[in-house]
Amino acid sequence: MKNKTSRSQAVRLSSNSIAAERCSTLIDLARKEFAKRPNFSNRYIVLARKIAMRHRLSLGSKDFCKNCNTVFIAGNTLTVRLNSSQKNISYRCNVCKKVRKFGYRLQKSTKSTQPVQSKGFKEAI
Ligand SMILES: [Zn+2]
Repeated sequence: MKNKTSRSQAVRLSSNSIAAERCSTLIDLARKEFAKRPNFSNRYIVLARKIAMRHRLSLGSKDFCKNCNTVFIAGNTLTVRLNSSQKNISYRCNVCKKVRKFGYRLQKSTKSTQPVQSKGFKEAI
């Protein structure tokens, strides 16, 4: 029985990796096809979402609009705004005007990131 569970787990892992590859391929294809055939592009996103749902994969929310299934192309179908007072990045879909906000934090500067003072010319000689 123990051997059977590990085998089914291995099958699940391989099928999940195949599904993830197909989802990324479909999203790339949707990005290419959007200019020529936007309906096909939306259909590719729907298929990728169905595959991800079946295999319980996360596609993230920054590649396409979850409201209207439009692929995000910066400057074309997507407007990105940085709000520093509220510490968030807003992604607005230009097709359905839906806004999604993602928070961010600034990283604390460490000593290693500070520039190293170089020696003067006379000291180097
Ligand atoms: Zn949208």
